[in-house]
Amino acid sequence: MATIWMNGEIVPEHSAHVSVFDHGLLYGDGVFEGIRFYRNKPFMLAAHLQRLWQSANALNIIPPYSREELTDAIDQTIDRFSQVNGYLRVVITRGIGPLGVNPEKCKKPTVFIIADDLQLLPKNKRQQGISTSIVSVMRIPNRCWDSRIKSLNYLNNVLAKLQASQNGADEAIMLNEAGNISEGAINNIFMVRNNSVFTPPTNDGALSGITRQLILELAKSNGLQTTEESLTPFDLYTADECFLSGTGMELVPVNTVDGHELNHCPGPVFLSLQELFQERVEKQAVAETGERDYA
Ligand code: PMP
Repeated sequence: MATIWMNGEIVPEHSAHVSVFDHGLLYGDGVFEGIRFYRNKPFMLAAHLQRLWQSANALNIIPPYSREELTDAIDQTIDRFSQVNGYLRVVITRGIGPLGVNPEKCKKPTVFIIADDLQLLPKNKRQQGISTSIVSVMRIPNRCWDSRIKSLNYLNNVLAKLQASQNGADEAIMLNEAGNISEGAINNIFMVRNNSVFTPPTNDGALSGITRQLILELAKSNGLQTTEESLTPFDLYTADECFLSGTGMELVPVNTVDGHELNHCPGPVFLSLQELFQERVEKQAVAETGERDYA
């Protein structure tokens, strides 16, 4: 069963309600984070809180709690959850207001945290790789809203995912206005060519993923060349390896893109990065220093 913290206290699931007048529900007006915890410790918490605050700032939402207070609330929620590993959803909405989109009428943001289990893929797919489809649903251009804002409005991603399923694929890959690869529906995308790691820059429409950033760092510090540059469908079709990264899915190898089989799945670069990622998770989970190793 999930554990829920809402507006200052742990509440039972059956009474964890949001008002029908909450603009998070009415207009998708709000921001959120998905955070994994391993052995009771939230992974990369400082980076997630930083992005949450930046997203809120971009929408002019002032969180009613400090980062320290939210950290306490997160700790409390994890402690009360029945398992030591799981997934947190941290949500800050615009709050309750009258009908009508005007955000200034909403006086107090609603804040809640859900701790639950999240398995997005069966184990065999995680190991053998997933199929992907480049969908016609275009990524919302950064001129509409910056893709670095992690807002509650996920309709673009929902439509992409829906189309991928209709195409018989496990995951969607979205293109931007220029026809370059931006990201998956809920993941960042990487490809490998000649032992070098490539990922699209965030201004091609990608979220500034925390797993993405960690993978770039791990790859660099292990002697792999990393490049953030625009990629096309051709690049993916002809790549040596391709994989997706995200908090929910962690790292998942891709075996096909629009039916084109990748040379290696899971490839050697993916496997070495996955091992480094796992080491990082372990290291953080067992860290017993006085200071919390969030990064
Ligand atoms: N892109 C989108 C659209 C996402 O929703 C997510 C999941 N948060 C990601 C990429 C991956 O980001 P992160 O590694 O921070 O979870």
